[in-house]
Amino acid sequence: MPTLASDAGRACAYPQARILVGMSFGAAADRGRTLAASAPCPCGGGEYGSCCGPVLAGGPAASPEALMRSRFTAFALGDVGHLRASWHPATVPDALDLDDAVRWERLEILRADGGRNADRRGTVEFRAHWRDVRTGERGVLSEISRFRRAGESWLYLDGAIEPTGRA
Ligand SMILES: [Zn+2]
Repeated sequence: MPTLASDAGRACAYPQARILVGMSFGAAADRGRTLAASAPCPCGGGEYGSCCGPVLAGGPAASPEALMRSRFTAFALGDVGHLRASWHPATVPDALDLDDAVRWERLEILRADGGRNADRRGTVEFRAHWRDVRTGERGVLSEISRFRRAGESWLYLDGAIEPTGRA
């Protein structure tokens, strides 16, 4: 089972994200795979072009849930650039290396708070289903993530990992 602890002692948002202390993303951040606008969005929210696509392209996320969905989609597509761009400067790791064997297959949003005009903070509770294509292992990551408003958009601050079970 993938682990969540980082070398820096921070909880990482997803088990396949290994934090490599002291390295940088560099100028050639991996933008991951691309999807057609009409393709189903990996987060399950509809067509990619009207769901997470605009956020991964650099547009604002209207709510903590929208940012959460875009980050799940970025993990699913291997878009390290968006993961870094959507991470709060106070907690963003120096480097992030995704495990190619882990496929993020489905997202369940259990609860989402924040996103109204006056809100500065938000939380999203979710379950992210993964499969390791090397081992065939499947699992679920349960997390309550915290978000902070940043202008017109939101940033991921950190998350509390819940005990996980099998898918
Ligand atoms: Zn989406």
